[in-house]
Amino acid sequence: MEIKKIEEFRNNKIKRLPPSVIKDIELKNQARRLANLAPIKIKVRMCIACNQPFESAGNRTCGCNTRSTGYIAGREII
Ligand SMILES: [Zn+2]
Repeated sequence: MEIKKIEEFRNNKIKRLPPSVIKDIELKNQARRLANLAPIKIKVRMCIACNQPFESAGNRTCGCNTRSTGYIAGREII
């Protein structure tokens, strides 16, 4: 059941940023607020490489073209 749900999520839904990346953005936004900079906004956009909708913090691709180097949405994941 769980695996099926995950598969559906992958097939039909927007690619989400991993929680570690969202946390990273939140921390950066706190620093940006202190520095009077506009916060980084997470937006849904279309990947220019594979045309899938994905959550972006300014990236133009969902990470599909950089997966081989261990990056998703332009950020390193472990
Ligand atoms: Zn893509």
